[in-house]
Formats: sequence, C-alpha cells, structure tokens
Amino acid sequence: MPELPEVEVTRRGLAPRLKGRVISGVAVREPRLRWPVPRDVLALAGRRVLGVRRRAKYLLVDCGDGHLILHLGMSGSLRLLPPGTPALKHDHFDLELGDRVLRLRDPRRFGAVLWTTGDLAAHPLLAHLGIEPLSRALDARRLHAMTRAHRTAIKLFLMDARRIVGVGNIYASESLFRARIDPRKPARALSLEQCRRLSEAVKRTLQAAIRAGGSTLRDFVGADGGSGYAQQRHFVYDRAGKDCRRCGTPIRKLAQGQRSTYFCPTCQKR
Ligand SMILES: [Zn+2]
Repeated sequence: MPELPEVEVTRRGLAPRLKGRVISGVAVREPRLRWPVPRDVLALAGRRVLGVRRRAKYLLVDCGDGHLILHLGMSGSLRLLPPGTPALKHDHFDLELGDRVLRLRDPRRFGAVLWTTGDLAAHPLLAHLGIEPLSRALDARRLHAMTRAHRTAIKLFLMDARRIVGVGNIYASESLFRARIDPRKPARALSLEQCRRLSEAVKRTLQAAIRAGGSTLRDFVGADGGSGYAQQRHFVYDRAGKDCRRCGTPIRKLAQGQRSTYFCPTCQKR
C-alpha cells in the first residue's frame, strides 16, 4: 500500500510537471472507485493546474476554483504518459494535459478521484486528520502535550491518523527504534526528552524513505512500491530473531492492535 513517503515522492514528481498546464480533457473508464468518481470531473477541461499539494495521503491538485482530490488507495499509481498511450485493464482515470496524460492505475479500486470547490480544511475526508509529521507542527512540545491524556501504547498513538497522519506500521516501528523507546510504553508516560527524540526520529525515518523512493523517479511518476522502497534497510521491521544492527540482541516481534511490532528489547528498554 502506498504510504506517505510514496505519496510525497509522487507529489514532488508531479508538481513541477503539472503546474501551469491546462487540462485538455478527462477520461473516466471506471467510476466505481472507493467512492464514485463525480461527473463534475468531466467538466474540468480548460482549467489551469496551479499546483499539487499533499495532505496526509491525499494529493490535492489546485485547479483555481476547486481541487481534484486523488488517493492511491491500496494499489494505485499515477504515471505521466504520452497522449494516445493505450489504456490497460486497471487504468481507470486520465487527466489529459496537452502533450501528456496523468493516468491512475488502481487494480483494487480503493483509490479515489474526487472534486471539491469548498474549503479544503473542512472537507469530510480532510477535516479530522491529525498533524503532518514532516511539518513544524510536530515537535517535542506538541507531541508531549498531545500525549498527556493518552494511556494507549505509544506505537498505536503514533499510528492514529486523528493525531498524526502518515506514520504507518513500518515507520512507527522504525521511528521508535531510532528514538530508543519501548513501543508498549503508555503515550502519556513519555518524557519531554523522549518526545523530542521521537518527533525527530519520525521525521528522519520518513525523510529516509522519501530519499529512497526519490531515487527511483524517472521520466514518469510511479508510486507502485518500486525498487527504491524495497531496498530500504530497516533497523527492526520484519527482522524478528535477527541481530539488532546497533547492539546484536535478537529483534523481538509482538502484536499490537492486530499489527506486528518489531523492537529491540535492549535498545528500547521499558
Ligand atoms: Zn539493540
């Protein structure tokens, strides 16, 4: 599933290639995505793309009087292709931009193509999202303040998109290892110093993944879990029983909220 780093790499690839271009046409081959693709998108031709932003895992294409909201779902990818490139089975949506086509491929159809002319911050999909981990909003003081009322395990707190967006299972385990914090520790028991280490670790972990993904970016934009992401060398994730890269202790695995957590019992003491 595309995670925040993949979506951010996609955004960085798309933004300079889309900005300033005029939409020349729209093709909807399959409107039954996560939500039905609204008919409004068929009327987008003639609008100019002013920019591409990201909120959590949503890409927001600014069309002046409204935003196209794109989500890659479980299996989606966006590519820029020459016009006339034959559409394959799972190529459900095209945004035509003159001499190139932005094409959404989404085999499992959990992705989204939506249109809104309202206030983005108040959109039902965006209104309840937590803070952006790569922004200044996430720092030691903010994390410390946010966690005071929560006795839930810090790993689960980190993954709760109502608090902080985009910290998926892999990145939560990796960040807690970098910060040397036991994933089972109650969120409200973290010290300010631990919140400092953790907020920095989350940013470093996501930035490393973005760099790894960015290296795979070529003349098209792909968010299909290409080789750059697979080459990432995890500290703990999916390494149960293997030696900790820092201290040599075997990495342990446990279940938290139906997801696997990996940690080093020596580096991440309770
Ligand atoms: Zn260790």
